[in-house]
Amino acid sequence: MLQVTQVRAFTDNYIWLIHSPRDARLVVVVDPGDAAPVERMLAERNLTLSGLLITHHHADHVGGVADLLRQRPIPVFGPAGEAVPGNPTRLREGDHVDLSALGLEFTVLDVPGHTAGHIAYVGHGAVFCGDTLFSAGCGRLFEGTPEQMHASLSKLAALPAETLVYCAHEYTLSNLKFGLAVDPDNDAATRYQAHCHELRERDEATIPSDIRRERNVNPFLRCDDKTVKQAAEAHAGRKLHSHTEVFAVIRQWKDGFR
Ligand SMILES: [Zn+2]
Repeated sequence: MLQVTQVRAFTDNYIWLIHSPRDARLVVVVDPGDAAPVERMLAERNLTLSGLLITHHHADHVGGVADLLRQRPIPVFGPAGEAVPGNPTRLREGDHVDLSALGLEFTVLDVPGHTAGHIAYVGHGAVFCGDTLFSAGCGRLFEGTPEQMHASLSKLAALPAETLVYCAHEYTLSNLKFGLAVDPDNDAATRYQAHCHELRERDEATIPSDIRRERNVNPFLRCDDKTVKQAAEAHAGRKLHSHTEVFAVIRQWKDGFR
């Protein structure tokens, strides 16, 4: 199993350090929005930064790239469809990130919706999905359409059930609050909420999640569920005729939910 170290940044971002299975002191960083906490972790644990993986162009994901690359001739990978710093190798669906010297390899998925060119990295039983899939939620639609986001989430939901989900924010409790408003009788979500409350009280992360859990508790992955559809129809005040329509309604509902 992949060894991954969590670095906290800003108020609720996670920057992930993926350790080389060959030499755990070598790490690749995912979405370094801020260089300072990454540098601190590298120094504290005596780690060597050996590559950068970028999921999308937002500042809280790329803000640390330039500083981290100073004095470090290391490879950078990013989405083909977005302008990100660091002159990355530009990736799209089906491309491979080959870091064979580190014993690491990832496959790229196009997951547009939060941004137009957002990508995810899949490999070693994990997915690094940026701001597309969150635990019990999903990213806001800043650049894409509901159709695109629904297709992107369906792609992620189709990964093997045991795949660990490394998303970029600690939003789980607020997502569950909304999820349980949509789907109040979801026992798995209720149990998960109690578990996440305990974790957060101890200041522990709820991430990584996994695809099996997300299929059960995440309303945005359950647009085909009868209860979720009924809740969306009641909220919209009209009949909904496709999973994408259900998705569009609950995504909009969540935007205004407090
Ligand atoms: Zn973002």
